[in-house]
Formats: sequence, structure tokens, C-alpha cells
Amino acid sequence: MPGEVIALSEPIGDTVKTTTCYMCACRCGIRVHLKDGRIRYIEGNPDHPVNRGVLCGKGSAGIMTQYSPARLRSPLLRIGERGAGAFKEIGWDEALAIATGWLREIRATDPRKLAFFTGRDQSQALTGFWAKEFGTPNFSAHGGFCSVNMAAAGLYSVGGSFWEFGEPDWEHARLFLLFGVAEDHDSNPIKIGLARLKERGARIVSVNPVRTGYSAIADEWVGLRPGTDGLFILSIIHLLLAAERVDLDFLARYTNAGWLVVRDPGGATDGLFARDEAGRTLIHDRRTGAVVEAGSAGAAPRLAGEVRIADGRLAVPSFQLLAERYLDPAYAPEAVAGRCGITAERIRRIAAEIAQAAAEPVVLPHPWTDAAGVRHAEMRGRPVAMHAMRGISAHSNGFQTCRALHLLQMLLGAVDTPGSWRYKAPYPRPTPPHAPPGGKEVRPGHPLHAMPLGMPSGPEDLLVDPAGGPLRIDHAFSWEAPLGMHGLMHTVIANAHAGDPYPIDTLFLYMANMAWNSSPEPAETARQLADKDEKTGEYRIPHVIYADAYFSETVAYADLVLPDTTYLERFDCISLLDRPIGNAEGPADAIRQPVLAPDRDVRPFQDVLIDLAGRLGLHAFVTPNGAPRYASYADYIVHHERRPGIGPLAGWRGDGSASGRGAPNEDQLERYIANGCFWRHELPPEAHYFKFANRDYLDAATALGLIDKPAPITLQLYAEPLQRFRLAALGHGGILPPPDLRERVARYCDPLPFWYPPFEQEAVDEAAFPLSAITQRPMPMYHSWGSQNAWLRQIHDRNFLYIAPETAGALGLADGDWVTVTSRSGSVTCPIRLMEGVNPLTVWTWNAIGKRAGAWMLAPDAAESRQGFLLNHVIATFLPERNGRRLPSSDPVTGQAAWYDVRVRIEKAAKGVTETVPHPPPVLPPPGMILAARGAHA
Ligand code: SF4
Repeated sequence: MPGEVIALSEPIGDTVKTTTCYMCACRCGIRVHLKDGRIRYIEGNPDHPVNRGVLCGKGSAGIMTQYSPARLRSPLLRIGERGAGAFKEIGWDEALAIATGWLREIRATDPRKLAFFTGRDQSQALTGFWAKEFGTPNFSAHGGFCSVNMAAAGLYSVGGSFWEFGEPDWEHARLFLLFGVAEDHDSNPIKIGLARLKERGARIVSVNPVRTGYSAIADEWVGLRPGTDGLFILSIIHLLLAAERVDLDFLARYTNAGWLVVRDPGGATDGLFARDEAGRTLIHDRRTGAVVEAGSAGAAPRLAGEVRIADGRLAVPSFQLLAERYLDPAYAPEAVAGRCGITAERIRRIAAEIAQAAAEPVVLPHPWTDAAGVRHAEMRGRPVAMHAMRGISAHSNGFQTCRALHLLQMLLGAVDTPGSWRYKAPYPRPTPPHAPPGGKEVRPGHPLHAMPLGMPSGPEDLLVDPAGGPLRIDHAFSWEAPLGMHGLMHTVIANAHAGDPYPIDTLFLYMANMAWNSSPEPAETARQLADKDEKTGEYRIPHVIYADAYFSETVAYADLVLPDTTYLERFDCISLLDRPIGNAEGPADAIRQPVLAPDRDVRPFQDVLIDLAGRLGLHAFVTPNGAPRYASYADYIVHHERRPGIGPLAGWRGDGSASGRGAPNEDQLERYIANGCFWRHELPPEAHYFKFANRDYLDAATALGLIDKPAPITLQLYAEPLQRFRLAALGHGGILPPPDLRERVARYCDPLPFWYPPFEQEAVDEAAFPLSAITQRPMPMYHSWGSQNAWLRQIHDRNFLYIAPETAGALGLADGDWVTVTSRSGSVTCPIRLMEGVNPLTVWTWNAIGKRAGAWMLAPDAAESRQGFLLNHVIATFLPERNGRRLPSSDPVTGQAAWYDVRVRIEKAAKGVTETVPHPPPVLPPPGMILAARGAHA
């Protein structure tokens, strides 16, 4: 009928609630439709700044994660041998009393004996603070086995990085380079951005050994050999320098290219920045010829040429050191092409494309004022944008590779300019960072003096004993991993089992499936968790507490299981103090609210942590008379102040009108809920670019509490903190590495990026293990959560090992054959598929599809445990022992797990079911879960 209004979107239920998705790490806004108290449908929130209404397959399948039969139902106490899976259900009073008893004893005697490690925890601002207040240095989340190389390299170079720290300028980039991406970092935001690039006709080049995911829609795929990205990037830098296609003006203004570096071979200050008596860095002014303070009004630094400074030492600008290194023929395309697995001509062409794109600036008509007060009529930028993630960072050369990528950005002048990569507020942060980790002094009953994770500036910030040995159970911030700023979670269980550097009492894990897909060598990890001391008959790790929402493979190894809610049943806080969700045009944060009540005897982990803190009397969690300060996590989110006026949430503070800074506001959560569970602050256009030196941005960021003061941030081509570690390794100063680590520290703590072969490559005979083996994250899955989801299992319930046809042909293999994959540390038997888009010397598979039989309430004969497999079984935790020292198979600067270094051989096997050596037997579900699965529970 004319004029009739047709309802295109009939209500699906009786209630709609907004919250934040947790089906991957992106934290999209969602609208959850409920009917009669049950979820019927999840859609994207069109108002939300992260996803603008876009919802991916994982997000919409959240309904099946909510109703998963694998949800734990009650606190559990182990009643059999560890690993056997025999538990009894207990009440929360008993569970919390047991946990409090163990933890109270540790805190009163030696707080280091608590190792508290969390997985892809989105509440690290709370969990890290809790560890600090408990007084243990032994805390971290999953970053050490994810992408700490990327984060550390960025924070020590440009005061930001990719993913949560920055984003490409989707509206103005003309050339977009993707390096080794994991598709959940980002997911929806990058998909939206890639679509925009395609609409605008921008060119996309993907550098990745495997052409899946975003690489599949790239205009050009560069299938490098794993672990050679750094060599490829440094070769491009070689070509740009040789052709003088770098942005000298940008370098002189905004980076430390002109800062003078002392040249005093063998001296205690060799390689450090020359400084005046007040400690200010110096430049050689090309206008006056004088050596003056960096940043002096009117001064312009020379970028080359030796100069004698006031005390008689010689110094050169850091740019000269850089140019000397990368103009070396060792970085010429012809010298690196063979290792990278592509031709020299191709490297030259890509470098030329980058130079050409950078030479045609994007100009935006936005006047802006720089930190020196100079007014600029417009914003000019280099339209070359980049994004990178775990693929290039999960190598033992990952830190220096990620540094190389940031170096390339700086040389192009493509940092936070129109068309390039841009900071997401609250970044940039001052660089090099200086926030030493807490844990040097541990006192029973007292908090640490600083958060357990920090960012060292030199040897004096390390957590080492007088002999140079580690003070943390994971050896982070020791000479094995001086910038281990996200911890080394992948070494915790092995070190705790070995009592290295000391035995612990309680291992407290939260949503970290360490007995399976979160550990290299999961069978060995499980063995260590269940191992007993032959003399005492006691477990080597006396207590294991595990908190999770699901019956993962790790549950069987816990003594006490604290069941968490799902993400749809609790309050949560996506905080600027933790992992922000802002974008380049303004900071943002968000909450989760319970959209339905739990139907099981479970509690939000964050509530449990706050409850434990009150029982233990942790200083910041109790009132002066010792009563619990916070009733719940929601109460903490509203009332906790990390510094006066700065709390977990930045929106609606004070009387409700303040942003960033302000007193706690009782109505804050209601204001968030009314606004769709997020807050966003829009920066003015004059603050959108050049944030490191933009007066408007720096003032606004200071007012919001994002930075402490509005000082300009100088980008660090040359990373001086690394030179401080190197000098110690050369014998200077009072804090020195142990003798057997000095050569390693001196080599890898290089203030200028360099490339070296991944350690695993050097640890094995390449002829015996000729292939690299890597994993990719399937677009519809996120860690182990996805592959127990009834909808998502229909997309992937098994995985294959993918191999190039020519490689398969040479080995006599055909599509569908089964092979045994063998590394120096283990083997796995699995089916193969032939695929064109993979580097011929690389095999790969999807991550975290394979399950241990019986876990996650999957049927014992589920495809996940019969045809699905975990590549982790062939990845070693440690390098071969040398001189009595066991070093992790990790980056030597940050300690990041080198997942993608592993080398394998493959041999034809009989068709059958997945086999690993050793083969883990099936696990049994806890009591109550089988009944629940049969519908006996409500
Ligand atoms: S991208 Fe991640 S956070 Fe966003 S809807 Fe998908 S699963 Fe949820």
C-alpha cells in the first residue's frame, strides 16, 4: 500500500543490551538481543567507534560460546592425582578459603613464591596492580608469547606501535604494506580499513610466507621465507639511502638523527649520546657550527660529520652511524635476495614503489602549531602506511626486525603524517620509555614499589642479583631478556618445575591454556605440572590455581579451579590504563555489562580477585581499618584512582562532565551504559597528525591525563638504552651480565637494527630440517575458544598442513596424504593439502584447532582430536643447552617466544588419525558437566 511503513527489522526479542565483544581481541561494540532471558541474536553496534556496526562471524557466534557445554559450572577441588581430572565440586566459601590460605602464607613469608600469569586477559590494569599489591614480581599476561617484540620495538622507537598503538591512515594512504599479520590483530577495524583502501584504489602489498587472510586481497603478495623480513626491510633501507630518497627534513626535526653519539671505542661512554652538564643531548648546528642542545630554537642539526665536543671526545650524528651501516653492500638486494627467497629485482622494484609513493605528498589544509610554537599552514605527509604483527615478531630476531620496520617509517617521514601510519590516542608516549619494573626488593607483606612490568632504560633497571642471575621466575628483565616488558609466560612452568631461579609455591593462572595451545611442547608442560619430587613425593609446583570459564586442557592440572563467567555475564573495563581502543582521532574506552545472569555457580574472575585482595589485606584494596575497600569489580572500576583523578575509565568523571581527569563519579557506569558502553573523546583536526610534536595534541593529551606533560617526543632512530646494556656486556659499569652471556648481550643489544638468522636455524642442521613451519590464525577463530563453538566448528573442525605443490612433488606427496612432521624436539602426524600461496620452503597450518581428546566437552572421537593437530608439539621451549645454560627459544632482547623459528622435515605416513609423540591420553570432564550436557541441569 502506498505510504505503508514496512518494519524491516522486527524486534527479535524483548530486550536489547549493549556491551563489548570478547570473541577476539578487537573489542567491538555489540547489541545483544534477548528473549525471555536467553540470547537470541548478537549484532554490531553501529555507533561504536571500533567496528561501526560491523560484526564478524566470531562475534555473532558468541551466542554459542555463551551456551557452550564446555562452561565450567562450579569451583572444583582436585581429589585424584594431578592430571587425572578427578575433582569434587565445592562452594565458593571453601574455594576462597583454600586460595586465601595458600596465598596468605606466601605473602607473609616470600611473595615471590606466587607466580600469577594471565592469558589474553583484558583486565591487566587490574591483574598487574593486584600482583604489585601482593608484592610478587612474578606476573605477566600473554604478551611474551604473542607480540612483545612489536610493542617493545615500537615503544623504544616511536613511542607507539601497530595494532592497539596505531593504525594506517585509511583515508589518505596510497601504498599500504602489511607484514606478517595475525588476523585478530586487528580484525574488524582492519577489514573496514582494507575495504576503504580498495574503494580508493590504494595499492596493498602483503609480505608474508603464506597468502591467506588479508594477503589474499593484496595487489601483490611477497612470500618471503620466515624470519627474513628484517633483511628485506634493511635492504629497502639500503636502496632508499643510496638513492637519497629519505626525508632529511623530517629526520632532522622529529627524530634523533642529529643527536651526537660519542665515538670512543673501548670507552665507557662509547655509543651513548653526548650530553651537556645538565644531561641534555647535543647536536652540531649546521648554521653556526656550534655544538648546542638538541631542540635549541633556530638550530638545525648536521646529519653527518665528526665533531669534537667540549670535553674533547669525538662524536658523530646518529644518522651517520645509520648510513654507514645500511649502505654496506651486505644489505644490497643481491646480497639478501637468496636468503629472503625473492629476487633482487623485486626488492628494487618494491623499494622504488615506496620511494615514488612517498615522493607525492598528501597535503591537508589544516594549519597546526608545532611544539616550538611554529605555525604551519598545512599538514603534509607521506602516503605510505604500514601494519605488522606477530608474523614478523614471533622470531628470535623479531625485536630488531620490528625496530627495522619503524626505522623505515622514520626514514620515509611516514610517522603520524597524512597518508601514513598514525598513533591511536593515548599514544605517542615519551620515548625512550623509562618506567623501571618493580621487583628489585621484595618484602613479605608489602607491595612492590612499582608495577611488575615496566620498561628498563639500562642495567640499573634490571631485576638481577649481584651475580647477574634473574630475580623473576620467567627471567624477564634479566640479561636473558633485558627488555622483557611483557614477561616470558612460556618459560614459567618449566622454570618453576626446575626451581630456576627458585622454587615457587603457587602457580595462579587465568585463562591461559598452558597445558595445551599456549605452550610450546604441551606434553612436556603437562608432565612438569604433574611431576613430583622423587625424594618428598610432593608436586614440584606445590599448588596450582586455575581460573577460566571453560573446561580447557589445563583444568585437569589444577588443584583448585575457580570458574569464571562468560564475557556476557560480567562487568569489565577496557581501560586507557591497559589496552586502549581509541583511534587516531581520539581516545576511547569501554565497558562490558552483564547482559544476562549466570546459570551456574560461577563468579567473574575480577570480582574473585578483588575478594581475595580484601581477604589478604592488600593495601590498596582495603580501608585503613582493614575492611575490603571494593565490593566488586564494578565498584573498583568506578572508585579506584591510580593517580589522583585518573581511574580505570576516562569518561564522565567528576560531576559527569569531565573527561580523562576527575574525581570518581557514582553514575559513571550508568553513563557508559546509556552511551552504548563506550566513551570517546574527539580531538580537533589540528591535533590529528604530528602528535609527537603537535602543540594542540600535546596540550590536549596532558589535560586528559594521557601524558604527564606537554613535552615534544623525539623519535628514536638510535636506541640508546640498548647501548647501555651493550656497554655493560663490554665490562663497563657496576651491573654486568654473567660472563657467559656477555657476548650475546653485546651482539643483540644493538642500538641500530640488524638482521641475524633465527636461532633455531642455527641450532639444527638445515639439511636435516629443511623447512620452516609456521601457524596462521584462522579468521573465524580466536585461540582455543573458537574451536569449541558449535557454529565455528562447522568452519574448521580439523586442520591440514599446507605445502607448496613443487615441494610436495619433490617429496613424492599428493594432496590428502598424511605426513609426519619432525623437528629437533618432537613430531606430529597429520594430513596435508597442496596450496599455491605458500613459500616453497615453508609449511603451515591453522593455530589452535587441534584439541586433546575429551577436553572442551567435545566427543572423544571429535575431528579436533583425530584430524586436528597442534604444531606446538614440534616447537621447543628452550634452545639446546650450552655451557650448562638453558636459554629459551626466544628473542634475546625481549624474551618473546620464537614460535615461527621452528625447522622441520616431513615424511610420508600412513593415513590415520593425528598422532603426537608423546601422545596425551583423553581427559575426563569434571563432575556436573556431563550431567549438564545431558540436560540434567537447568
Ligand atoms: S572482530 Fe573480534 S571483537 Fe569484533 S566482532 Fe569479531 S570477534 Fe568480536
